[in-house]
Amino acid sequence: MQTICHPAGDESLKQAAALLQAGQVVAFPTETVYGLGANALDEHAVRAIFAAKERPADNPLIVHVADKNQLTELCQVTETAEKLMDAFWPGPLTLLLKKKDIVPDVTTAGLDTVAVRCPNHPVALQLIRESGLPIAAPSANRSGRPSPTSAAHVYEDMQGRIPMILEGGSCRVGVESTVLDVSGDVPCVLRPGAITREMIAQIAGDCTLAPSIMRPLQAGEHAPSPGMKHRHYAPKAKMTVFTGEDEKVIEAIIARYDVSEGGWILAQTHCLPAFGSRRCLSLGDSPREGAQLLFQRLRELDEKGAAFILAQGWEAEGEALAVMNRMARASAFDIVPM
Ligand code: AMP
Ligand code: MG
Repeated sequence: MQTICHPAGDESLKQAAALLQAGQVVAFPTETVYGLGANALDEHAVRAIFAAKERPADNPLIVHVADKNQLTELCQVTETAEKLMDAFWPGPLTLLLKKKDIVPDVTTAGLDTVAVRCPNHPVALQLIRESGLPIAAPSANRSGRPSPTSAAHVYEDMQGRIPMILEGGSCRVGVESTVLDVSGDVPCVLRPGAITREMIAQIAGDCTLAPSIMRPLQAGEHAPSPGMKHRHYAPKAKMTVFTGEDEKVIEAIIARYDVSEGGWILAQTHCLPAFGSRRCLSLGDSPREGAQLLFQRLRELDEKGAAFILAQGWEAEGEALAVMNRMARASAFDIVPM
């Protein structure tokens, strides 16, 4: 199959919408990462997403809608969910809601809840409206690779596997949406994203974090979100993450490692001069910039053939929890507090 890349515009969006209506898979930009979309209600189309990504069938997809009215046929909307949608949609917040029969089991991996979100990106919204469909869309990477934050990343992973990629520049947020379980009395973040626990608590009164956000699942522990079981966001090289005061992190990296042996440093911009001529890439200067850059940097380091990666992280709390959750998984939880 030939994969065509088109800058998003009226014509290419029409073409993409027609492909979706015909049961095909199309990649498109959102504010978080690029998505690999298909008609969420068409079992065959959804299977084609799993095939293109080589995604395990037990990892459910997020269904993207253009507004909350589109949910009526898909799921049961609770009062808390509605409040959160009014506060954060369109935006990077995914809600798990009791699904209706129209949503096929492949989309939800057999669960009785469906994950729904309204993306805050003009191309994604126009595509959903133009197609008239709810669009199931996981991140547009091959399973296990870092999520794509540009059309070029999607092309790397999906070339020859899907008919079309809509190009819409780099993704503003850079990490996937917050996944929120709203089935209990208190909402619970299963995957942290740009909408933080604190922001959710302001609207819902309270909000908790799933314990497995910053540690591996223990033997026999149930994964509240199936995606947590799977290897994720991984660069090819072994990665170690250091947190704590700048000076201590810099000293640890310089004193303990010889990066001339194929290693690369991933550090905050203001710390780069301290590493002298050692091979470094910048992760920005704030957790928000770090989130925007992380997946791109991991892909760059794969391309450079990095043998190992020494990364500077942030304290895993508040706004930094999203990027630190991805760094934890990319490093197989090798996080060293200094
Ligand atoms: P991705 O589509 O690659 O951003 O991944 C979607 C994430 O949402 C994965 O971690 C899934 O496991 C999670 N997810 C989707 N649907 C559900 C659901 N019904 N219940 C729990 N987690 C879900
Ligand atoms: Mg993904």
